[in-house]
Amino acid sequence: KPGPDGKYTVTMIPGDGIGPEIAASVEAIFKEAKVPITWEPVDVTPSLINGKTTLPADAVASINKNLVALKGPLATPVGKGHQSMNLTLRRTFELFANVRPCKSVQGYKTPYENVDTVLIRENTEGEYSGIEHEIVPGVVQSIKLITKPASERVIRYAFEYAKSVNKPEVRVVHKASIMKLSDGLFVETAKEVGKEYPDIKLSFELLDNTSLKLCADPSEYKSLVMVMPNLYGDIMSDLSSGLIGGLGLTPSGNMGNKVSIFEAVHGSAPDIAGKGLANPTALLLSSCMMLRHMELNSHADKIENAVLKTIASGPENRTRDLKGTSTTSHFTEQVIKNL
Ligand code: ATP
Ligand code: MG
Repeated sequence: KPGPDGKYTVTMIPGDGIGPEIAASVEAIFKEAKVPITWEPVDVTPSLINGKTTLPADAVASINKNLVALKGPLATPVGKGHQSMNLTLRRTFELFANVRPCKSVQGYKTPYENVDTVLIRENTEGEYSGIEHEIVPGVVQSIKLITKPASERVIRYAFEYAKSVNKPEVRVVHKASIMKLSDGLFVETAKEVGKEYPDIKLSFELLDNTSLKLCADPSEYKSLVMVMPNLYGDIMSDLSSGLIGGLGLTPSGNMGNKVSIFEAVHGSAPDIAGKGLANPTALLLSSCMMLRHMELNSHADKIENAVLKTIASGPENRTRDLKGTSTTSHFTEQVIKNL
C-alpha cells in the first residue's frame, strides 16, 4: 500500500559484484521516470550464527514490512558452513516459485526471432536441498528431495500464471523416466492439480527433449508455460537466455504467498565488476516485472519501452555483452533520454 505521500516503499538489496552498478542504474531511471517508489536499501551480508548462515535482522524486517524487494546478485561466500545467500533468502521468505520469462529483444538480432518463453522453477528443494555427505572418502551422496506440498504449490502457481497471461497450456519438464520416484511424484502431482484446471492443457516432456527442441525451434514454447524441478529450471533458464542474447537480458521474480523478490537471472559477474561494463537490462526488466506485480503497469511499460528502444538504437548505446561499446552509465543516460 502507498504511504501518505502516495509512494510505495520497496526494499532494495544492491548485492555484490556488478550489483551496486546495475542497482544505481535502476534507481536513476526510476527517479527520472517519476515512479512513485521510495527505496529502502538494506545490506544482506550474511553472518554465521550457531553454524548457520543468517540474514541481518533489519533486512528481514524491511522485506517483511514492504513485501516487495528488488535484489542485485549475491555472491555465495566461500568457506565451510556458508550456504548460498540466494537460497537463504528463498527459504526465509518461502519464495517457492521462480518465474523466468525470456522474450526476444527487437533490435538485437540473434539466430532466433520472436522467442517468447516462460519457465517456472521450483525454488525451495530438489537438488538444492543442501543435503550432502561423505559416506567414506571417495564416496559422496547428495540428496534430491522432492515433496508433494512443494511440488503442488509450484505447479498450482504455474496454472494460475498461465491463466493470468492467457497461455492455454502448462508443460511439466522432468526426467521421470530415470528419476522414477522423485520426478515421478512431481509428474503425478501435476496430474492431480491439472484436474482443477480443465481449461488449460497439461503436457509432459523429458528434459533432454525440451533442451533439443528449445534450441532447434523455440516457437512451439510461445503458447505454454513450463514448470520444472529446481536444477532443471536453473539450466533451462540459462539456455533460454542464450536464445535471446544472454544473461544481461533476462529478468526473474521469486514469488511467495506473501513476499516477492525480483532479481536478474545472472550472477555477480566478478570478472567485470567495478569496470562500468555491466548491462543493467536484466535488473531493469526485473524491476518492470516488479512494477506490474504492484499494478504500476504504465510505469513498467514506459521503462521497458525506453530500455528496448535504447538497445535497438545501435551498438554505441549497447553494452559489451550485446556486442556494443557503451558503458553502464552511458546506457543509463540513453534510457533516461528515451523515457
Ligand atoms: P554466480 O556464481 O554469482 O552465479 P556465475 O559464475 O554464475 O556467478 P555470472 O555472474 O552469472 O556467473 O556471469 C556469467 C558471465 O556472464 C560472466 O562472464 C559475466 O561477466 C557475464 N554477465 C553476467 N551478467 C552480466 C551483465 N549484467 N552484464 C554483462 N555481462 C554479464
Ligand atoms: Mg550463475
